[in-house]
Amino acid sequence: MGEREFVEIDGSEGEGGGQILRSSLALSLITGRPVRLRRIRAGRKKPGLLRQHLTAVRAAAAIGSAAVEGDALRSGELTFCPGRVTHGERRFDVGSAGSATLVFQTVVWPLLCTPGRSRVTFTGGTHNPMAPPFEFIARVLAPLLRRMGARIDVSLERAGFYPAGGGRFVAEIEGSSLAPLELQSRGEARSFRAEALVANLPVEIADRQLAVIGAAFSWSNEQLHARQLAGPGPGNAVLIELSGEPCAELFSAFGERSRRAELVAKEAVDELREHLSADAPVGRHLADQLLIPLALAGGGCFRTLAPTLHTRTNAEIIARFLDRRVTFEREGEGRVYQVRVG
Ligand code: AMP
Repeated sequence: MGEREFVEIDGSEGEGGGQILRSSLALSLITGRPVRLRRIRAGRKKPGLLRQHLTAVRAAAAIGSAAVEGDALRSGELTFCPGRVTHGERRFDVGSAGSATLVFQTVVWPLLCTPGRSRVTFTGGTHNPMAPPFEFIARVLAPLLRRMGARIDVSLERAGFYPAGGGRFVAEIEGSSLAPLELQSRGEARSFRAEALVANLPVEIADRQLAVIGAAFSWSNEQLHARQLAGPGPGNAVLIELSGEPCAELFSAFGERSRRAELVAKEAVDELREHLSADAPVGRHLADQLLIPLALAGGGCFRTLAPTLHTRTNAEIIARFLDRRVTFEREGEGRVYQVRVG
């Protein structure tokens, strides 16, 4: 499998989840360095490659003409030897309710680093617990990437909730050079809105959730929106969005069978409250997702609450491939950290 030296990654280190795999695939394609992953998701209840991860591997291999070994369901080992990344019209289907936005998270970075234009259709879950909902990509991540100089657009065609899946969104991505970004204090000019999404469920569920959010923050009806989405299965999600300088944020919670709708809304309310309890513009999910683009841009910094294990592990994976370091510095005795990529 070629003579280049493999980057060796223990997939069970640190956070030990799918992000180690996705970041490794993306960075392998960008640097041209082959990677060997062992013990993939070894500590998880269902270890190894699940459908969503396997789709990410196949998607990375397709855009980068990679030679792959170990790309089978539940495989715990993978070797990935990248070729040249090319643009084009592509379709990737998770084939289950596994997250399609996490497949996007794998291919977006190499495509942004390669001249040319792609139109990529992702099919699978668009609104899954433990993954960015489509709106997080559309309203938080993509606008920040555009601010860094990226040409990227995403559009939702239909929603896919667990367990039916079958959602679909399209990303138009053009190779662009990224400029560094700083996200320091939260600005004064902020606005808030909440959306309760329902697919194939009574809209009354969304109304009950919006009542909880409206009461929690004394928001007016103009800030509360019920949206009925088309999609193959039933589903419900609550999104609370903060917009304004220096960046937007979006907090989400997902409905589940036998879980009261109000509790789902309360979960999103608690997330926003925690975010507002300190002057740090970047939330914990955005923090881990910003590290790769900042590393590719050559640097940047942001303030966030205590970095999660996802964020710290992603920083370690980046250091294995790129000559970039991520540092975490706590501000005094407080809860805010300064994260620098350079
Ligand atoms: P992993 O658990 O390793 O598969 O990684 C999950 C990824 O999804 C990480 O980048 C998380 O930050 C991201 N993520 C999980 N939940 C959310 C959420 N509610 N909003 C935005 N991103 C999320």
